Amino acid sequence: MNRNRARVLLLNPALGPLDYRVPQGMTAEPGAIVLAPLGPRQLAGVVWEPERMASDAEVGDNRLRNLVAVYDLPPLKDSLRRLIEWTADYYLAPPAAVLRMALASASALDGGPTIVEYRATGHLPDRLTPQRAQALERIGERQGLVRELATIADVSEGVIRGLCKVGAIEPVTVAVDDPYPEPDPDHDPPDLSAEQQAAAGALADAVLARTFHPVLLDGVTGSGKTEVYFEAIAAALRDGRQTLVLLPEIALTEPFLKRFTARFGVAPVAWHSDLRQSQRRRAWRAIASGEAKVVVGARSALFLPYRELGLIVVDEAHESSFKQEEGVMYHARDVAVMRGHFEQLPVILASATPAIETRHQVEQGRYAELKLPARFGGAQMPDIAALDLVADPPPRGRWLAPKLVEALGETMARGEQALLFLNRRGYAPLTLCRHCGHRFQCPNCTAWMVEHRLTQRLQCHHCGHIMPPPRACPECKEEDALVACGPGVERIADEVTALFPEARTAIVTSDTLWSPARAAEFVGRMEARDIDIVIGTQLVTKGYHFPNLTLVGVVDADLGLSGGDLRAAERSFQQIAQVAGRAGRGDKPGRVLVQTHDPSAPVIHALVSGDVDGFYAAETDSRREAGAPPFGRFAGIIISSENLAETVETARMIGRAAPQVEGMMVFGPAPAPLAMLRGRHRQRLLVHARRALDVQAVIREWLGALEWPRGVRVAVDVDPYSF
Ligand code: ADP
Ligand code: ZN
Repeated sequence: MNRNRARVLLLNPALGPLDYRVPQGMTAEPGAIVLAPLGPRQLAGVVWEPERMASDAEVGDNRLRNLVAVYDLPPLKDSLRRLIEWTADYYLAPPAAVLRMALASASALDGGPTIVEYRATGHLPDRLTPQRAQALERIGERQGLVRELATIADVSEGVIRGLCKVGAIEPVTVAVDDPYPEPDPDHDPPDLSAEQQAAAGALADAVLARTFHPVLLDGVTGSGKTEVYFEAIAAALRDGRQTLVLLPEIALTEPFLKRFTARFGVAPVAWHSDLRQSQRRRAWRAIASGEAKVVVGARSALFLPYRELGLIVVDEAHESSFKQEEGVMYHARDVAVMRGHFEQLPVILASATPAIETRHQVEQGRYAELKLPARFGGAQMPDIAALDLVADPPPRGRWLAPKLVEALGETMARGEQALLFLNRRGYAPLTLCRHCGHRFQCPNCTAWMVEHRLTQRLQCHHCGHIMPPPRACPECKEEDALVACGPGVERIADEVTALFPEARTAIVTSDTLWSPARAAEFVGRMEARDIDIVIGTQLVTKGYHFPNLTLVGVVDADLGLSGGDLRAAERSFQQIAQVAGRAGRGDKPGRVLVQTHDPSAPVIHALVSGDVDGFYAAETDSRREAGAPPFGRFAGIIISSENLAETVETARMIGRAAPQVEGMMVFGPAPAPLAMLRGRHRQRLLVHARRALDVQAVIREWLGALEWPRGVRVAVDVDPYSF
């Protein structure tokens, strides 16, 4: 290898690796993080073995530019670089885009001059515009750069500076942080049941074995999966190695931190999008140095440069939010398993409702399985019954059937808590004019504008477009003719209040629980029993443990089954089983009422009868017949641009160029599931391939030979979540 020359993958997804000269006295080994010149600028990047990554442009030695500097940071390990290569290859993404996740968009790199952060002073000026007042409320106790506070408050930086001028916000010097305290594996270990003990022992052994070992921790809701994998973390801590815990939802972080702290004495290091720049930098460095022993985070924590990783846990491993739908379209569950492979360590996938793909891996003997078939401490599984909305419908203009209302009344009378689940934010999913039939649609997306009464506006759930609540129909100008169609959680909350005026309700959606602090506050109020009835979306279906919650009502079990996607039944089953799993987790028995128009649907039957294995077997069979995952593979090619004609034309051109390959079929182009999104028209080609076919290689060659107009984006979604 030529030590005077280095191939560098720069942090710019538009660029492939470039070669540089290593000046005298500098060493730039593979993995080193370096600063390199690019045109008039300088950009960070990582040194790569030339034989492992082809360069965009071969340049002779005499024309090379000098590297500027090598960062005083640990080099990226070979195992991580292999993971980056694999991810880029498998998901057909630019390696630099994956590298960016490892380096956290370089935010970790700027040690920079002194950083000035700002926070609220607590001083409220006499006259505050509504926008400024709302910004202050959103910022709360938080501290950060002007840019960060602006993002948190969803206002321009000018608003933050304005608040500074009137004395409502002030600059603060950022203190040098103490090191992260180490979790203590022996702080407060639980007494495990015999079953839990067996599973925990097997996991601890796997940690000490230091070999690749994917394992499904398949335990019913409330069986103590968290307590069990905590023992694996304890084993990794005793072994001096790091653990990564991936959670599907940032709202789950807060309860996790609490439980972790109770077990290990101190909180783990949290990694999520809500971190301030300085916190992010500090966490990144502690992860790279090995100081951060346990890291809990959303999927982006997966690519960080752990110095000595010993264990990966993917909690609620079936969750669809592990699938990234933008940028590098990877599935964090699958990449976690690959990381375990490259780093030779166990990967625990914990779930009460594992994905069909994961079950299949277990059946094939590729993943081990540990089962916890009973709830901890003798708590019973809840009793699940279907409520037939055809036979016993709610009164006109209402959504809760008489039996569910009765059960709510009984629950309240006993001083217990109830949860109503409806996976729809806002008041009503559709607003239309009774007079002319006009429907309010988003100008940027193929989606209805959703009425939100709490914030008094209509909102698009895809691009965030908002409009004030209309008084008159914009088409026919008729006043008082607008009607809200169908229920959202806010409308159910109104119905509950009308039925039980004394009930204390809480709406739990991403609108109300948009930060870890809000989530913590909600948990606190539930635990203090300041809430009687929760009305929530999928955000409340997972993870939470409220012992006094005994009744769960599913407002519309049919909602998830529409759409005709092959995964619909599985997804619907998982969601209802998870929300049902919130009921009766303490010593009081739980009850679940599922409202449906079709009590004989396989999903409902499986939930009511408890024949989960039968349901999975039937679903697996239909996947096998369709050649759907895990038996065959799909890849979506999504073509988008602001111009409809150009989008359609490019999609057709790509479709016509599809190669004839044995075992592969191409469907479409057709409008993508969201035909318009954020102002971009979207067409999709769906590629279906036999399992054994290297479909990525085929697509790479196919698209590589084509050109399309600037402004048209072509993205490949390998293993799409919906098919
Ligand atoms: P799961 O993740 O499987 O739904 P959890 O880990 O949340 O289950 O456990 C459910 C509840 O039971 C939690 O409050 C947990 O602290 C408690 N629990 C589970 N196992 C034990 C144990 N061995 N000792 C004490 N409490 C336990
Ligand atoms: Zn929109």
